[in-house]
Amino acid sequence: MAQDILFTNVRILDGSGALPWPGSVRVQGNRIREVSRGSASLAGGGAMVIDGAGATLMPGMVEAHTHFSWNDAATLAGIQTMPLEEHVLWCAKVAKRYLEAGFTSCVGAACAKPRLDVVIRNAINSGQIPGPRYLAASQEITVPGGLGDETLPHLPFPEFSFGVNVNGAEDMRKVVRMFLKYGVDAIKLNLSGDNFTPQSPADTTWMTDAEVAAAMEEVRLRGKRAAAHARSAASVKQALRHGVEVIYHASFTDTETLDMLEAAKDRVFVAPGIAILYAMLNEAEAWGITRAMATDMGYQVEWDAALESLRKMHQRGIRILFGGDYGFAFTPHCQNARDLEFFVKYLGFTPMEAIRCATLYGGQIMMRGHELGLVKEGFLADLLLVDGDPLANLAILRDPKRILAVMKDGRFAKQPAVDARRGWERAA
Ligand SMILES: [Zn+2]
Repeated sequence: MAQDILFTNVRILDGSGALPWPGSVRVQGNRIREVSRGSASLAGGGAMVIDGAGATLMPGMVEAHTHFSWNDAATLAGIQTMPLEEHVLWCAKVAKRYLEAGFTSCVGAACAKPRLDVVIRNAINSGQIPGPRYLAASQEITVPGGLGDETLPHLPFPEFSFGVNVNGAEDMRKVVRMFLKYGVDAIKLNLSGDNFTPQSPADTTWMTDAEVAAAMEEVRLRGKRAAAHARSAASVKQALRHGVEVIYHASFTDTETLDMLEAAKDRVFVAPGIAILYAMLNEAEAWGITRAMATDMGYQVEWDAALESLRKMHQRGIRILFGGDYGFAFTPHCQNARDLEFFVKYLGFTPMEAIRCATLYGGQIMMRGHELGLVKEGFLADLLLVDGDPLANLAILRDPKRILAVMKDGRFAKQPAVDARRGWERAA
C-alpha cells in the first residue's frame, strides 16, 4: 500500500461553510483518514509529511459547466471546424490544465463532436491521461434555427453544425439514444436561444414539450441526467416541468420561475456562467465586439436581468454553482475561479458562500455528495494546498503560483515544491 501523506501546519478550510481552523490531515490511499484541530500534529507514523507552513488546505474545486472541447476560439464555427484528431489532443491537454489549476472535478456541459467528452472521461478514468473527475456530456442538442444549428441553407450537412439538430419527438429519441449508447453521463438540451447567435436570442424558447419529454424518458430509462441551456424564463420552467436537474444560465426569471426553482431546490442545480456575459460586454473588443455591439446583441439587458434573478435565487436558498463557458477567446480556460469573485461582487455572496459553491455543492452536482467536496474523514482525497487565505482574496484561486499543490484521489497532480520555505520530508 502506498505511503500515507500527512499535511501538517495547515489552515483547514473544509468547504462546508465552517470557519477555517489550524490542524493537520492524513491521507491514506485515496481517502482522507484523519482530520485534527489545533497545532499538535497527528503522529507521523511513517507518513510522508508535508509541512504546509500555514497554507490553506481546502477541497479541490468542482467546475459545474465545463467544455474541454471549446478551443478558445471566438466563434462556434471556430470550435466546430477543428479536425477531430487535433480536437482529441486539445481536450486531453485542457483536461490536464484544469486539474493542475485546482479543478479536481468537472461537470461536462456539452462537447463539440459526438464522443469527445466520453473519450476524454474514459481516458482519465483508465489512467491514460491526467484530468479531473469528469462527467461526460453529449453534444448540444438543438432544433433548426436554435442555438447550435450552424448549418447553412446551401450547406445543410450535419457535420458543419455545432449542435445536433432534431425535428420532433421521435427524432429527439433517436439522437438521445445515440448519445446514451456512446456512454454519456448527461444529455445537453438547448432549450433557449443565446445572444451569441442573433437569430435565436437569449429570451427565446425553442423546443416543444413533446421533444423534451421524449429526451427525458430516454434519460430516465438509462438512469442518466439532463442539463439544459436555459436563459429564458419559459425555458427554465420547461426544464423544471420535465425534471431536468442541471439548469445552465437562468438569466430571465419571473416570480413563477423563482417559485418553481425554490420548490425544486433540493433536486436542481443552477450554474449561471455569468463570466461570458461580463466578457462580451467588457472584454471582447479585441475580437471585434465593442461594448456598443454587445449591448445591441442584448448582453446588457441579459446581464442586468441575470444579476437580479441570481440574487433572488441565492436569497431563496437555490444552489448556485460556479463555472461555465470558459473556453472562448474572451473567457479563456482555467480562469474559471473568477466566477467566485463575480458571485461576491455582483450577486451578494459572502466569500465563504462562494467557496461552498465549488466544494459542498460541487460534490453534490457530481452525484457524490456523501464522499466528495469536503475536507472530512472518510471523504475522497481531492485537496488543494493554497498559498494564502482564499476568504480574504478569492483571486488567488486563479493564480497558478498560489496553488501550491493539487491532489486528486490521494495522488498529487501538482506536487508541492521542495523549497526552504515549505519543508517536505519523511517522518521517522
Ligand atoms: Zn455552455
